[in-house]
Amino acid sequence: MKLKDECGLFAIYSQSSEIADALQLGLFALQHRGQEAAGFAISDGRELRCYKDLGLVQDVFAKGHVRILRGHIGIAHTRYSTQGESARPENAQPFVLKRERRWIAIAHNGNLSNAAQLREELLAEGVYFTSTSDTESLLHLYVRAPGATPQERFHTLASKVLGAYSVVMIDGDKLIAARDPFGFRPLVLGRRGSDYCLASETAAFDILGAEPIREIEPGEVLVIDRDGLHSARFGPVRPRRQCVFELIYFARPDSKLFGQNVYEFRKICGARLADKETYEIDIVVPVPDSGLPAALGYSRRLNKPLEFGLIRSHYIGRSFIEPYQESRIHKVRMKLLPLRDVLQDRRVALVDDSIVRGTTSRAIVHVLREFGAKEVHLRIASPPLIAPCYFGIDMPTREELVASSRTVPQIAQFMNADSVIYLSLEELQQCVGDAEHFCMACFTARYPEGSLPAEHPALEYLLPK
Ligand code: SF4
Repeated sequence: MKLKDECGLFAIYSQSSEIADALQLGLFALQHRGQEAAGFAISDGRELRCYKDLGLVQDVFAKGHVRILRGHIGIAHTRYSTQGESARPENAQPFVLKRERRWIAIAHNGNLSNAAQLREELLAEGVYFTSTSDTESLLHLYVRAPGATPQERFHTLASKVLGAYSVVMIDGDKLIAARDPFGFRPLVLGRRGSDYCLASETAAFDILGAEPIREIEPGEVLVIDRDGLHSARFGPVRPRRQCVFELIYFARPDSKLFGQNVYEFRKICGARLADKETYEIDIVVPVPDSGLPAALGYSRRLNKPLEFGLIRSHYIGRSFIEPYQESRIHKVRMKLLPLRDVLQDRRVALVDDSIVRGTTSRAIVHVLREFGAKEVHLRIASPPLIAPCYFGIDMPTREELVASSRTVPQIAQFMNADSVIYLSLEELQQCVGDAEHFCMACFTARYPEGSLPAEHPALEYLLPK
């Protein structure tokens, strides 16, 4: 599957003023969550420096000369746009304000579902915006909220804001972490010696030799200062609704998220998919790299060989591919190298984590046949995607999702596949275990109650339970 990713957060509160390398490394480990822009803010508790730009983490940090900066508090962000226009440097994060001689900086992963309304209200109050990002609204709401402490401010903020927000902030000499009351997006607290770290995924701790302590709880605001950790609850009590897509696709396979080992989870989904197999298969071919763990689980359960019938080219960038837009098949052939000797005369189970529009999967099926596959059976380790996400994943509209208007046999026909088998919603729920704590709205079109504004267009399409 190919979806634009979302955003990655990393932050550190240190006893020393040498945090630049840790900040850069931690964010680098989260590069998969956004490749459009990156940025950081470093503070010594009095002064704050921020640098952000379009580009990859290593390029932006080098241009921002992060290594010469001194400070013991830092936040960093890597971005793929879900709100606001994408390729604009002013939409990169963190956002920074100075209020009453105090620097405040924010970086955000998620999507505010009432962003337009919040922006209108803030504009009516005379707020000047420098970007089209919903994160800038969050910052203004925070600084305008009554209260002497971050905890009190978040309580007010939560009464106005709907949707998904995991945030890290610097407020004066404090580092702050908060997660919306549903807990859509992950945020984990870790420790390296006497330093505290925060990250979207535990993979960012591994690269630093830091240990995960625990996840920031939904509806929790955690303040870190020289006296240690101060935790408080804020906002309305909501049922936990962690994004199941983080487990299916977005998170790095070496991360542990929402109490799950991501790699093991994907293998379990693949094995469950294999239990449904009704066709004779010769080889199992993963769609690289997203389908790999599921394909492994599938092949082991069926006792069929896992073969790399498609190899990802690691030397091709988006800018090189763009001029060849005219043919999806051509683009796939540039990114994925089919192995004729592996595919020739084989009945192939092609395993991927999910299908969005279906156009890339269709091109892959075409390429496998072109290189000799006798049969191509598409096996998808998640249920059909039928509804867009409003909580921080950049998905196409409902009409563009291949499964929103087609039955499974129609999808097989569209793909020119010999068969298509998905995991059902119930099977996914079994694989997750504590399914009641997860959002699965893109598979059900049932958005968590209270997560969208009353007039939101998605609510018109609500499917019966
Ligand atoms: S709608 Fe789907 S992608 Fe969005 S938060 Fe829910 S499970 Fe995740």
